[in-house]
Order: sequence, then C-alpha cells, then structure tokens
Amino acid sequence: MQAADRQRFAAVSMMIDDTLSELIRRRPRTLVLTGAGLSAESGIPTFRDAQTGLWSRYSPTELASPEAFESDPERVLDWYDWRRALIARSRPNAGHTAVKRLLDALPGARLVTQNVDGLHQLAGARDAIELHGNIWRLRCAAPGCRHERYWSDRTAPAPRSCPDCGKILRPGVVWFGESLPAQALASAWQLAEVAEFVIVAGTSGLVHPAAALPFHALEQGARVVEINPDRTALSQAAHWHLACSSGTALPALADLLDAP
Ligand code: NAD
Repeated sequence: MQAADRQRFAAVSMMIDDTLSELIRRRPRTLVLTGAGLSAESGIPTFRDAQTGLWSRYSPTELASPEAFESDPERVLDWYDWRRALIARSRPNAGHTAVKRLLDALPGARLVTQNVDGLHQLAGARDAIELHGNIWRLRCAAPGCRHERYWSDRTAPAPRSCPDCGKILRPGVVWFGESLPAQALASAWQLAEVAEFVIVAGTSGLVHPAAALPFHALEQGARVVEINPDRTALSQAAHWHLACSSGTALPALADLLDAP
C-alpha cells in the first residue's frame, strides 16, 4: 500500500466507530446499493460531474432520455458508443472488489446497483440487480419488436439496426422519465424491506425510485451507512455517513470481516 493510500485508509478507519464494526462482524442481512460514484475511480464520470470533451455542451437529459433519442437518435447512439468505449477501457476498482468480498462474506447479502457499466459483475459480484439496465444490452426501439441481445464485443461500436425488423437499436438502459424494470424494482424493494443493514455507496440519491430504497429500509428498522464524499438527502437520516471515496471506505468495511 502506498503512503497516500495508507493515510486515506487510516482516516476512514477513524470514521468507523465500534458500533458499526460490531454490527458488520455480527454478519447482518445486508443490502448494498451502489450508484455512479462507485465507478468514478475506474474513470467513468458520474452524471453530476460535468460531461467531458465532446459532450460537455449537453446535459444528461439531452443524451439519456426518450425525447433526446426521438429528436436526435444518432447523437444519443454516438454518446453511448463513446461511453461503451470508455467502459471497455476501464477496470473494476477497489470499491467493486470490496463489494464482491462483502457479498461473499455476508450470508444472504445482495447488491442492487444503479450502474449500467457491468463493472460489479466484472469484479465477480454475483446476482446483481440492475435497476437501470446494462449498457452492453441492446434492444430494438420499434414498438412490437422484441429483439434484444447482449453486445459483448468490446472492440467495436454496437450495431445500430435491428436484425429482425431493420429499425433502430437502442441501449438496454433506463432513461430519465422511463419506468424501471418491474421485476428488478420489486426485488430491490423486497430486499430493502428485510435488510438489517444497508450500505449505500456513490449515489446522489436524486434519481427515484432508487433513492427511496434506503429510506424504506430505515423505516423497517435497518441500520444504514452512507459512503459519499459529499452530503446527500440521506446523510442526515443514515446512522453513519462516511465522507470519503468508496474505493477507500468499502475495503475498510470488508476488512472488518477478515479481522479475528
Ligand atoms: P449521480 O451521478 O447522481 O451521483 C454520483 C454520486 O457519487 C455523487 O453524490 C457523488 O458525490 C458521489 N461520488 C463521486 N465520486 C465518488 C467516490 N469516489 N466514492 C463515493 N461516492 C462518490 O449518480 P447516481 O445517484 O447513480 O444516479 C445517476 C444515474 O446515472 C443513474 O441512473 C445511473 O444509472 C446513471 N449513471 C451510471 C453510470 C455507470 O454505470 N457507471 C455512470 C453515470 C451515470
């Protein structure tokens, strides 16, 4: 470990009080909820970060909404090609690895993610519930056509026309203003209902209904820890707010399970 990492690790260890350490060591039924901040340390910008380079003049809603796709599909698909290329060059970071360790070590633990990049799965996380879909899935945008496929070739831009009907393919993600996949949302809600402990990492809590999950868990009596360098609407209500990066805080939490 480098000196700077050691310092960061020491700082987060000070934020983890005895109550939180003991809770994790009791191996509670745990729900991990992640957002775009978790992948920031892999080099994938969050939506709240300014869009970079070519795309800086557009807001996320001008690129990730049904209206944007309707008015300028090529622009939206170009942006998704750019994002896929960025993700293809990225690797899971220490936060993703720690989530996998937590899932493996805590009986019945489950992951619900808002991320569409697939990095949790690349890090080995099992049974991730993807609330907002996956950027590597493509589906036909034409009403009535059910074509859907997984695009695993990370070296080439995704195809744009549907092999079944010839109409345009869109990314299999949930855009602003669209409904979440019903099964994923129902499962996430159920997990929030029964969780004893919820780890919320790297999400602004601005995108609903995902943002309501930790509050629902709190109402049911769960203990909640939030990991985010910034404060959010959850920070006050959560039992702990670890104001640091997920790549530092999540490994520190996972390490508690290794301690004798
Ligand atoms: P968001 O962009 O609204 O918020 C990101 C949050 O992460 C912010 O609160 C920020 O303070 C925090 N953050 C930044 N760096 C962090 C770090 N190193 N460690 C911990 N926290 C950090 O993201 P959201 O709440 O997930 O919602 C935005 C929507 O954007 C979601 O629908 C999501 O699907 C989509 N999105 C996904 C990706 C991805 O898959 N990687 C990337 C961008 C946006």
